[in-house]
Amino acid sequence: MANWPALAPLIARVGRPLVVEALRAWSEARRGVPEVADPIACARWCEARLAGLSTSSLRRVFNLTGTVLHTNLGRALLAEEAIEAAVTAMRSPATLEYDLEGGARGERDDHIAPWLCRLTGAEAATAVNNNAGAVLLALSALAAGREVIVSRGELIEIGGAFRIPDIMARAGCRLVEVGTTNRTHLKDYATAIGPDTAAIMKVHPSNYAVQGFTRSVTAAELVPLAREKGLPVIEDLGSGTLVDLETWGLPHEPTAREAVAAGIDVVTFSGDKLLGGPQAGLLVGRRTFIERIAKNPMKRALRLDKVRLAALEATLRLYADPETLVKRLPTLRALARPATEIHGQAERLLPAFALALGKGWQAGIKPVRGQIGSGALPVDLLPSFALSVKGKSLDRLADAFRRLPIPVIGRIQDETLLFDLRTLDNEAAFAAQLPKLAP
Ligand SMILES: *Cc1c(COP(=O)(O)O)cnc(C)c1O
Repeated sequence: MANWPALAPLIARVGRPLVVEALRAWSEARRGVPEVADPIACARWCEARLAGLSTSSLRRVFNLTGTVLHTNLGRALLAEEAIEAAVTAMRSPATLEYDLEGGARGERDDHIAPWLCRLTGAEAATAVNNNAGAVLLALSALAAGREVIVSRGELIEIGGAFRIPDIMARAGCRLVEVGTTNRTHLKDYATAIGPDTAAIMKVHPSNYAVQGFTRSVTAAELVPLAREKGLPVIEDLGSGTLVDLETWGLPHEPTAREAVAAGIDVVTFSGDKLLGGPQAGLLVGRRTFIERIAKNPMKRALRLDKVRLAALEATLRLYADPETLVKRLPTLRALARPATEIHGQAERLLPAFALALGKGWQAGIKPVRGQIGSGALPVDLLPSFALSVKGKSLDRLADAFRRLPIPVIGRIQDETLLFDLRTLDNEAAFAAQLPKLAP
């Protein structure tokens, strides 16, 4: 059957093995039925079966959910400079661990550590696969087999089964909880310190906020106590940023520099959240601790590859000039977009949008509040505008948007389907495919 001329175009496109696999399934589906040799129908059946395999499974989409750093949609979009550096590193041999001056072996961290030190004021820096890995590695290198003290108000769970107590256990540490959910005092930490204590840990409660009768101990308060007892303080900043977001009218998020300045010994944060780079876990802090972390065998298992290192170095280099940062870093550009500009875009798109929906739907423009996402600032706050739709069976309509050539992902809220335009950078591509919508 694989020699039927009707199958030749399909074989040319996807290769013989997949077509043979589809033919087997075809025969199986017809078991017991006398075979009707209809090569055209068979070819069509095989083609439909293999359709999913000729496009990639990881698809480009429009993220119009209102969450700028959407973990399920891949978080940060990289700057062109970072993309170019990554492509070069993919195409050619590179000085990943090679020192051109001496013609000898070099260190992979040397590409990013000087930048991280310059941008955070830390003595030393290293990087691994992601922030979860950075936390695991820091705990394992500095506190395996011993106790780590954490406030009960900071025992967080973030998405993807990252829970501080579990990470602690995996790193071989014994968790010592202090304080209560809403209030922890410095004396709670002081009385918990014993002969087996290896470190004190702070965790940025990034995806929730405790309000009301609360008390937590700041780094500035905690560090003198830790120093007196000769213990390192590790802080998981989560998103962590290298610049003060208030510069662009956004709420303040803790910066890595602030944590270092407060005396935190090891600060960990993500590369693909507010920083706007590739997925990575960054560790900055005091040289003695960073060196112990970098020498730990687990570092080898969690290290970054050349592609992401190249993208990370290029991203960090952009931070040398904060004034042009908002133009070059897509994440920051989206976060800083004025609502008036987004409203203008909504007005431009509304006529074509309403036309594509056809009768039976009420299309409009709605003021909405989006969020940064990925654990930064847990409350809705980014004032924005969305294309909105009201009508029956919104789920079906949302599904039709997801079936467009470039799937469009929105959100349903208060019986309204919303497409928040804050993150729509390619307006032309969005508008061009609207006529293909078949609700
Ligand atoms: C996001 C986050 C992590 C995990 O970071 P990844 O880079 O996704 O591994 C850990 N801790 C906190 C507080 C976070 O917000």
